[in-house]
Amino acid sequence: MTENLKLWLRQRSAMLCAVTLNRVPNMLPDEDDLIQFLSVLVNSVGTLPELQLAAVQSWALMAIGHDAPAAYDWMVLLRVLKEEIGRSLENQFPPDEVLAAWRQIDDVLIYAIIEATQLASDMQRAELLGHMTQLRSQQEKFKESKTKFIAVAAHELKTPLTILEGYTNILRAETQSDPQLHIYLEGLGNGFRRMHEIIGDMLDVSLLDLRTVELKYQEISLEKLALMVADNVDRYYATRRVELKIMPFEFDNITYGDPEKLQKALGKILMNGLKYTPDGGEVVVSGSPVRQDEVTDDMAGFVDIQVMDTGIGIDPENLESIFEKFGSIADASLHSSSKTKFKGGGPGLGLPIARGIVEAHGGRVWAESPGHDDEKCPGSTFHVELPIWLKPPENLA
Ligand code: ADP
Repeated sequence: MTENLKLWLRQRSAMLCAVTLNRVPNMLPDEDDLIQFLSVLVNSVGTLPELQLAAVQSWALMAIGHDAPAAYDWMVLLRVLKEEIGRSLENQFPPDEVLAAWRQIDDVLIYAIIEATQLASDMQRAELLGHMTQLRSQQEKFKESKTKFIAVAAHELKTPLTILEGYTNILRAETQSDPQLHIYLEGLGNGFRRMHEIIGDMLDVSLLDLRTVELKYQEISLEKLALMVADNVDRYYATRRVELKIMPFEFDNITYGDPEKLQKALGKILMNGLKYTPDGGEVVVSGSPVRQDEVTDDMAGFVDIQVMDTGIGIDPENLESIFEKFGSIADASLHSSSKTKFKGGGPGLGLPIARGIVEAHGGRVWAESPGHDDEKCPGSTFHVELPIWLKPPENLA
């Protein structure tokens, strides 16, 4: 049977090639390539399965190699060839022999189809991987140039702002006798101050992004730090009917950190608590020791400072995106320049700055909330988790 089948295949090779290429024209492999494959098939008939596989593998390497389009064309051609061989066998062999003959050929054809498919998908994966790496590096470059643009824009805005402030001060001095004009100039002064703050935030966020922020480590008490922040923001809370409470930290909360930067981080979160909580609500700051089993020579666990408010809350799908630069989820057209107005909105730099500062200290920041509801006000809790450093960390900043 084996010899018979080989002879039959050899004699039919040219016809099988012609019929196959006729059914699927314009393929990369040509008649000679198909004849070559058929000779591998003929030689494999009757040999052991591992020899058949080896023969098909070395054929695939030679015939397809690393040519992705050719691999795709071979996948199609081999399927059609398989069908044509089956049809010819049925027409020319008695029914009881067809099955035996088919068994001797089928495995080799299946191996070849699998090899072509695998080569095609390997190459597709390699291509995709290369594409992804390229995209990632483009994304990194884009991020970096965006950060540099923010830094340059902030620097450039500083000079004209200082000029405007200078002239406002001159005008203020020269128009002291005119109370109405004085009120207008106060308004201008407030606007300039707010612009200074926004420019400062733009510079901060770009320094943190470019990892060029410098931390001046000192021994600090986190409870005292929270009290100092509360002291600073009290005047803003006084403009609204939102209560700010600092609960006593009843545990050892001395660590090392940059007090100015940490105050800024906590201040941003407390100010958000005020901004997104309606009058009559409250913002409560508390602290608790966490991850106490994580102890090293330099560190004794962490402190979780929680800032809980009774405000409008945050939808679960936004709990992460609010920490992205300009990640404000509010409608930008509704933004107001007010720092304290309920739902006042801003440029969306506060939380990325807070997260950048805390992460530079080896900590983390995240938010929790049951959801967003302007009416029911489900509230939000922001966690600021900081390591309890036993000595100033060396290679963090
Ligand atoms: P900004 O307040 O300038 O918009 P932030 O980075 O401080 O920027 O905050 C980003 C967004 O996160 C805000 O626009 C707001 O939608 C949401 N957010 C922040 N804090 C709270 C909070 N306590 N309650 C509800 N939403 C908040």
